[in-house]
Amino acid sequence: MDLLLFGIQGSGKGTQAKRLAQEFGFDIFEAGGELRKIAASGSQLGETVKSYIDAGKLVPHEIIMEVVKEAIGSRPQDQKILFDGIPRDSDQKKDFDTIMREVGRNFRCIQLLLDPEEGVQRILGRAKTEGRADDANEEVIRRRMNTFIEKTLPVIEAYGKEGKVVAIDGRGEIDAVYEEMRIEVQRMK
Ligand code: AMP
Repeated sequence: MDLLLFGIQGSGKGTQAKRLAQEFGFDIFEAGGELRKIAASGSQLGETVKSYIDAGKLVPHEIIMEVVKEAIGSRPQDQKILFDGIPRDSDQKKDFDTIMREVGRNFRCIQLLLDPEEGVQRILGRAKTEGRADDANEEVIRRRMNTFIEKTLPVIEAYGKEGKVVAIDGRGEIDAVYEEMRIEVQRMK
């Protein structure tokens, strides 16, 4: 069973993903991380991707779907995948669901709940240590937050109606939040 992690920027999604991967043997597909690699490649495609990331906007549909399709296709069928940062809007959900159905992969979703303002503050804090350009600019962070609220929340709601989502309070300490997450993942097996 694969896992989709959802959570506003700064919700601790990336950190928790790594711990889940280690404990349960997931291979992580981090959409933002994969796109940042492409952006750094210096290719024409990379330049295009970089311009969207720097602006805090979703990269074009065809580009991200190609990346995720390739990532799914290159992993063995029995390798569980943890998807972080995909799908992010309804069009991506539609195509993602089709790809997953076609290759016979099942999944459940965990949503980490956090107040957007707390997310902004956490990101501004981490920008100092991780050096990501799109984390250092408050306006860009707020645009990413708004995109999450306008485009990604409806995706989570739709999965909720399909009975695929568990929501977890992301406000507490990393360890406490993780404990709740691992209990849910154990239940999913
Ligand atoms: P993140 O690391 O998840 O905060 O993503 C960083 C940036 O990568 C976003 O602001 C977008 O520009 C881009 N990105 C990440 N995931 C997606 C996606 N599923 N669709 C389009 N763009 C994405």
